[in-house]
Amino acid sequence: MTTVTPSTLQRYTDTIATLEAKGISLVVFQSPCCNTAIKTLPAPEGASWDSTSQCPHCEAVYMKITTGRSAKGLIPDAPATRTVGGSK
Ligand SMILES: [Zn+2]
Repeated sequence: MTTVTPSTLQRYTDTIATLEAKGISLVVFQSPCCNTAIKTLPAPEGASWDSTSQCPHCEAVYMKITTGRSAKGLIPDAPATRTVGGSK
């Protein structure tokens, strides 16, 4: 049994192919879950984007942080062990 559905990887592959076909230069980073290269859109200069993403390779959910042309992925600690609203 595989836990990876074709649709997640297919959607990712299609999106990347569309962006690259438009000549958009993408950022590459290593996924935090399975250490696979993932391409993503760069943020505008000086801007920082963060969002949850799903790994197209292993379907793990992680936090993607894009700052300008650098991107990284983080896997948050298990939320059940954290108190929401606590100090950082
Ligand atoms: Zn992964």
